[in-house]
Amino acid sequence: MSFAAKERVEVAVPVPLRQAFTYSVPLLLRERIVVGMRVLVPFGPRKVAGIVTAIDQEIVGETRKLRDVVAVLDEEPVFPSELIGFLREAADYYLHPVGEVLRAASPALSKDAIKNLRADGSLSENESLKGASVATQKTRFVHLTKKDFADIKLSARQRDVLSVLTERGTLSMEDLRLAVRNPLPLVKALVTKGLCEIEEREVLRDPYFREAVDRDTPPELHAPQAKAVATLIDALQKKEAKGFLLHGVTGSGKTEVYLHTIAEARAKGRGAILLVPEIALTPQLVSRFRARFGDGIAVLHSGLSDKERNQAWRSLRRGDVTLAVGARSAIFAPVKNLGVIVVDEEHDSSFKQEEGFRYNARDMALLRAHRASAICILGSATPSIETYHAAQNGRLTLLTLKERATPRALPRVEVVDLGRNRGTPSGHPLLSAPLHRAIENCLANQGQAILFLNRRGFSPSMRCDACNTVMNCPACAVALTEHRSARLLRCHYCDFSTPTTQACPACGALELMPIGVGTERIADVLATTFSGARVGRLDRDTATTGEGVEDVLRRMRRKEIDILVGTQMVAKGHDLPGVTLVGVLLADQSLAFPDFRASERTFQLLAQVSGRAGRGEEEGRVVLQTYQPDHSAVVCAKTHDYERFYEQELHDRRDLNYAPFARLVAVRVDAGDEGVAQRAAQTLAQVASKHPAVADGRIRLLGPAPATIPRIRGRYRFRMLLRGADRKLLRAVSVALVARIDEGLGQARASVDIDPVNML
Ligand code: ADP
Ligand code: ZN
Repeated sequence: MSFAAKERVEVAVPVPLRQAFTYSVPLLLRERIVVGMRVLVPFGPRKVAGIVTAIDQEIVGETRKLRDVVAVLDEEPVFPSELIGFLREAADYYLHPVGEVLRAASPALSKDAIKNLRADGSLSENESLKGASVATQKTRFVHLTKKDFADIKLSARQRDVLSVLTERGTLSMEDLRLAVRNPLPLVKALVTKGLCEIEEREVLRDPYFREAVDRDTPPELHAPQAKAVATLIDALQKKEAKGFLLHGVTGSGKTEVYLHTIAEARAKGRGAILLVPEIALTPQLVSRFRARFGDGIAVLHSGLSDKERNQAWRSLRRGDVTLAVGARSAIFAPVKNLGVIVVDEEHDSSFKQEEGFRYNARDMALLRAHRASAICILGSATPSIETYHAAQNGRLTLLTLKERATPRALPRVEVVDLGRNRGTPSGHPLLSAPLHRAIENCLANQGQAILFLNRRGFSPSMRCDACNTVMNCPACAVALTEHRSARLLRCHYCDFSTPTTQACPACGALELMPIGVGTERIADVLATTFSGARVGRLDRDTATTGEGVEDVLRRMRRKEIDILVGTQMVAKGHDLPGVTLVGVLLADQSLAFPDFRASERTFQLLAQVSGRAGRGEEEGRVVLQTYQPDHSAVVCAKTHDYERFYEQELHDRRDLNYAPFARLVAVRVDAGDEGVAQRAAQTLAQVASKHPAVADGRIRLLGPAPATIPRIRGRYRFRMLLRGADRKLLRAVSVALVARIDEGLGQARASVDIDPVNML
């Protein structure tokens, strides 16, 4: 292309339209304008800030009579051109408005940035990418001034505060609040009595950097690790855009491989992105990276303020910081001179964004790496079937770590058939005799146990024994879950909650019975059955309303918890060396999902949660309870046999014509009125049916049908699926659907989900 011209630019404006707009560039601005910069452009009667996505020949599509760019807002591009190109391609692949994709990708393009433009078109200080200092905040800490308060008259709650402070030393008000409800008046009273003091300190605002971490020395790599690293570094040096699958059992030293490869990239002046499933669940991983590389890491997480996010963005784009760590959206980090992208636990479904811009960060990692001539490492102990298939085909290079990096072998897995389980020592059906004995043993040997149950709350539903009415959410077609300590019935799909009642709202009988078991109830049962054992809980409830994930994990590491009960949050890559027993209370729950990936998910969960056992000095043991002991997910998890599971699953997928043999597009429709939703779904089905590829059967249309959960938040939901092996044809049908959706469907909303992960 010619660098002199710059007569026309394509600008992505933050509007929900699936196109970019072309503008002409006045002579005066031509010198300065570069792809990736923000510009002010007229849009209808308004002026809006958008991003230059292409110049001259790069522009696709027709050009009508053009309006002029008003101002160029940046001195350097906000987005490196590599990133812009990638984002355009991502928007195109997912058939999503490019302006919204850029907005999702960029903290600097927030709505406010545009609203708060100064009169001259420049940005307000807060939004500008000019200097921002290291973010600290004033925080109040409380500490004891007296150790002996035996003779002082105190309320029970004041004593609670004192005992927490005695046990844990100086605490921030924030941390104290997690232990004692509304502590401020209590602390003030204690200050008046001369028992404590409050002091203010400046602390780093970012929780991932609050505690200091000592630098570590890289260990000598084991032979299989060294071989993997050598292969990776070779591709990195040759600037080959290659994708790798690093398949290694839990604890095999994958993280160490990432660390070495990223260190090498950094030494060569190249940047890296590390994607992790849920940053909140992996504070330890961040610590390991800080220990190796120091604090010059951008940890991108939802707790950052706009200012901090802008700061991280700026330092990455300038190359002051060369490593970005974060959950799925970190795939958009403006890392300079990108060399490596790592997707840790690549099988995890959280890499898929399920609303708005529905992208899969794992797939996008491969795309971005490819465009940037970087290498992409997908790491997992239990790769997704699609990824392993790609490695078998040679589209990805397979690197394998077969053994654990520590002397400990993988834990022994014992399967308990709940169907043959007659009578249990505690009387509770989910604590079979073998699991009961294993817990006793574990406790007797000062070990720690993790028990996994994929249901939070006390009991998943309540039913009236007199009239059989089940307590349902008024807005969703699901049962309400009892949360006993909160004394609430809660809907897990919307925010609805109602106080737990004794009487059935339908017939008035006092016979409401809890049905099923959740983590809260099991925690109660365990505390009574194994008296003296300290029972902790880790699930969405504790993470959001309780003490928080990091606190639970810290207590676990300090051995202040003997038995930890939790949902799949306990299965994520925690390295807890004290854990010698893992119990899966009911392996069947995830098998029952109406999803072609149910079996794969179950195998992954079982293998991952089992991998939490025996990571320290002591050997680990797993007890897996199920009604389906012969299911391949259970059998293969028992023998730690990924390959066997893969072969069987692949066979089934081929028979049923699902991924990786066919590609899918899900179309979802919802509306407040059932008839409206259904008619809109039928309209879209007709559009699809008329397409020649659907008419002649090369693309199959399944549905429309009510969704698995037919109503959420008062909206009725329908869905249909397009399935076919030919990606181009599938895309053509999707484009037709999107065009129809853009025309509007009255009161109904519809969306197209390319390569859907969640089939509900
Ligand atoms: P993964 O990411 O596969 O679960 P990690 O990289 O976390 O595995 O390694 C598991 C444990 O083994 C960690 O405690 C790690 O420090 C240790 N480890 C990994 N590689 C080595 C090595 N080459 N030498 C010594 N210890 C290692
Ligand atoms: Zn609800």
